[in-house]
Amino acid sequence: MKILVCIKQVPGTTSVEIDPETGVLKRDGVESKMNPFDLYAVEQALILQEKYGGNVDVITMGPAQAKAVLEEAIYMGADRGILISDRKFAGADVVATSYTLSQGIKKAGQYDLILCGKQTTDGDTAQVGPETAEFLDMEHVTNVKEISAVEGYEVLVTENQENCFRKIRLKTPCLLTIEKDVNSPRLPSYKRKTEMKNPDIVELSLSDFEDVNEENYGLLGSPTQVERIFPPEKNESRQLFEGPGRELGDRIFEILKLKKFVV
Ligand SMILES: Cc1cc2nc3c(=O)[nH]c(=O)nc-3n(C[C@H](O)[C@H](O)[C@H](O)COP(=O)(O)OP(=O)(O)OC[C@H]3O[C@@H](n4cnc5c(N)ncnc54)[C@H](O)[C@@H]3O)c2cc1C
Repeated sequence: MKILVCIKQVPGTTSVEIDPETGVLKRDGVESKMNPFDLYAVEQALILQEKYGGNVDVITMGPAQAKAVLEEAIYMGADRGILISDRKFAGADVVATSYTLSQGIKKAGQYDLILCGKQTTDGDTAQVGPETAEFLDMEHVTNVKEISAVEGYEVLVTENQENCFRKIRLKTPCLLTIEKDVNSPRLPSYKRKTEMKNPDIVELSLSDFEDVNEENYGLLGSPTQVERIFPPEKNESRQLFEGPGRELGDRIFEILKLKKFVV
């Protein structure tokens, strides 16, 4: 079974700066780590590999420093890393990120299963998995809490949508986004780290893709763009009402109605 896990490098700190011109996160030089949700996806892939054999590759799109998360996944047990990196990919929104990933995946090889984390801790849209699957014309299920069986060309999964569980059987190749807390991600192995002098990492850029049209990538290929980033305005004005509870309730209701918070 060939499994590919999509992992993203996210800021490891809350003090990140945003470029006021472009509205893009300044990622260079910022302390970074693997998106915590992706650890569960990597662990899930390694569990499947132990059970059914095969390979586990990991892929990321990001600047050169994103190579660190590929290495971390390889030290956890993955076989190969794929870094998709090119200045032309900078400033990508969800559509452009998913399209770039789909192009990179096509180039990387054929996989039975593609796993993603449920969401990231920075962009946090939870849309990259499903959109990548659509670009790859692949069946997909989100918020997977369990992969109970792999039988021939089928996988049996349980999805968790707001505590409503559904068992779904789908054909491979397919893409699943993995819920958090479904396993205990293993730590990177110190032994693997010291033994592997050069972890197997392939680098892909725009010129390696099937579609080399720059307009489909990065800021140019992003239908959504940040116009302005600003902290929410602070409003410290307040009104104090006194009186019996019922009367106060009615007054507050009237105010909320006036402000159109309730109808
Ligand atoms: C309206 C809007 C506008 C935006 N505009 C900009 C912008 O102008 N510039 C900008 O820099 N950012 C922008 N972003 C953020 C950017 O779109 C996201 O960081 C990026 O699309 C990834 O989405 P996400 O972090 O929400 O991933 P999610 O969908 O939450 O991630 C789910 C899973 O997808 C996989 N995944 C996600 N990203 C990657 C990746 N890079 N490599 C490998 N796997 C991945 C991981 O498995 C992850 O767990 C914007 C976001 C929105 C919503």
